[in-house]
Amino acid sequence: DAGAQRDRAVSAQEWLHKWAEGKTGFHQEQGHPLLRKYLDVLLNGRSGLRIFFPLCGKAVEMKWLADMGHHVVGAEISEQALREFFSEQGLPYREEPVPGIPGAKVLQSTSGNISLYCCSIYDLSSAVVGKFDGVWDRGALVAVNPCDRQRYASLMISLMEKNSSYLLVTVIYDPNKHKGPPFYVPESEIRSLFG
Ligand code: SAH
Repeated sequence: DAGAQRDRAVSAQEWLHKWAEGKTGFHQEQGHPLLRKYLDVLLNGRSGLRIFFPLCGKAVEMKWLADMGHHVVGAEISEQALREFFSEQGLPYREEPVPGIPGAKVLQSTSGNISLYCCSIYDLSSAVVGKFDGVWDRGALVAVNPCDRQRYASLMISLMEKNSSYLLVTVIYDPNKHKGPPFYVPESEIRSLFG
């Protein structure tokens, strides 16, 4: 039971504010140990994959995977987060508008293997970003407002290739005692969302 969290929501404005204030305790400078641990499950022996990072922040794992020869695509509403990603990783990039999404832009490494869309994830579709062989969902489903979970899951499913792998990180805790990470997602709900 999601308890007290069920009717809460975090607005886009609040996320931008967190970035502006440097309240980004979720960011892991050393990368996530679970991605290292389950990398083989994500890649499954395949090379040159297209890998999606929903709600990507400035996750350093995007650079790891690009360095391994994969093509990384991310989605993030905070332009500041994306600029910090490229500058902290020492990667030159260019920016372009996204045809079909007013106000959106894509920041792309000059080498071409990291493309980060600055827009709401709900503005994206496979027509814009294509489909993916793998998804790294850390701090994404758990950050989606509970009222948007179904929409989010349907979108993610629509972005997956037939044989894609989806690595999802959630956190188990008592939602009546702790405020976050933003939202508690019980295992039963994960099963009903993703089938
Ligand atoms: N996955 C990253 C960031 C997790 S925090 C990591 O592991 O570090 C969640 C991020 O989602 C924040 O950076 C926030 O700005 C972004 N975000 C929130 N709502 C969004 C939306 N609708 N579309 C795209 N990004 C969003």
